[in-house]
Amino acid sequence: MAFWNEKIECMDRPEIEQIQLENLQATLNRVYKNVRHYRKVFREIDFMPEDLQHISDIKKLPFISRRDLSLNYPYDMFAVPLREVVRLHMASINFDDPIVVGFTRSDITSWGELIARNLAAVGVTKDDVVQIALTFGITTGPFGVQVGAEQIGASVIPMSARKFEDQVKIMRDFRTTTLVSTPTVAIGLSQMMEEMDVDPNKLALKHAILGSEPWSESTRSHIESKMHITATDTYGLTELFGPGVAWECPAKNGLHIAEDHFLPEIIDPVTLETLPPGSLGELVLTSISKQAFPLIRFRTGDLTRIDYAPCTCGRTHCRIARIFQKCDDVVVIKGTSITPEQISRVLSKITGGQPVFQLMIEQVDKLDQLIVLLEISDFTFFDEMKKQNILIERLHREISEFLGWDVTVKLVEPGTFDSNRKVLDKRIFK
Ligand SMILES: [Zn+2]
Repeated sequence: MAFWNEKIECMDRPEIEQIQLENLQATLNRVYKNVRHYRKVFREIDFMPEDLQHISDIKKLPFISRRDLSLNYPYDMFAVPLREVVRLHMASINFDDPIVVGFTRSDITSWGELIARNLAAVGVTKDDVVQIALTFGITTGPFGVQVGAEQIGASVIPMSARKFEDQVKIMRDFRTTTLVSTPTVAIGLSQMMEEMDVDPNKLALKHAILGSEPWSESTRSHIESKMHITATDTYGLTELFGPGVAWECPAKNGLHIAEDHFLPEIIDPVTLETLPPGSLGELVLTSISKQAFPLIRFRTGDLTRIDYAPCTCGRTHCRIARIFQKCDDVVVIKGTSITPEQISRVLSKITGGQPVFQLMIEQVDKLDQLIVLLEISDFTFFDEMKKQNILIERLHREISEFLGWDVTVKLVEPGTFDSNRKVLDKRIFK
């Protein structure tokens, strides 16, 4: 089984903890000195960086949330001057809660290292051709994948989100061996291959690394059998580099977290108590290598469990279970995180009222679909069919435009859904 950095990836637990302690101490010193927010919250609890004697002392520190990050928009969470930042990305392009993240040159190298480990684990070498079918834009998505693949020396195709027909032609003509995309795109490509009568056995494609949205074991089997490949999961957050935070090795039994770059914890999202290994809870991550934008005890909002048992692949870094669920009402669909509040704002703007609605997510032909159910009321012209149709069309257009992909909008009678439940996710992640 291939390793990119075998010494680090297979070190024993005391060595990992020693690296974590040293990197955490250095990170705390840096943020205390350079980031007003951390200085303030550390002083509030009378904590100085040198008070951290063991990695478990991290429990004394407060959590940081996405709300804290957007309150410090744009640059107040940066731990280095802007002249040392070589890249800026946004974790959310919603300007109600904007979050901007920065990378120094060494952060970009670290990010590439994380991705190179992921790619090497699934067999990518300099002989491979990596097609990146993630949108190149203000969010981090594919940029780290590109750096990591180039560190390995593979040939990178920065395909971005082009139409499926073009993707399949490039895949065939360029002899792509590795696809990096969302599971939704992989399914779309497999369907397009059938439509174009492209035989997967005649392609060079061997493997797909898929992430940015939850996907099930049955979706994995479907993609693997349709495309005649293996497929593994990858996990990341723009607030913490992006893709490459954790990823599946070929054992497909949990996602390894690079413990020399991150210190993971699991907490009860209600009581905020730290939970023992194996418990299901919210993943909290501390970045211990990042220079420009280090985060201490960042609440990811993702529910998972941690397993510290050694993996059959030989790696010693802990594994998290695949993530299917968020702690709050955030729902991830087609690689986009959506909250009911965002949709509520669009609905209110158009209808001029306080709409009662539910976001229903279901799968049709293995593809995720979002249906916005809106209760009929005075402002939905309940007695005029023509005006209702115009309203549905406008809602459809504006919400689809806001999200960047197509949604369905339905007007329904009051009582059709539980109005206390803003999200009904009918996808099955098993
Ligand atoms: Zn493994």
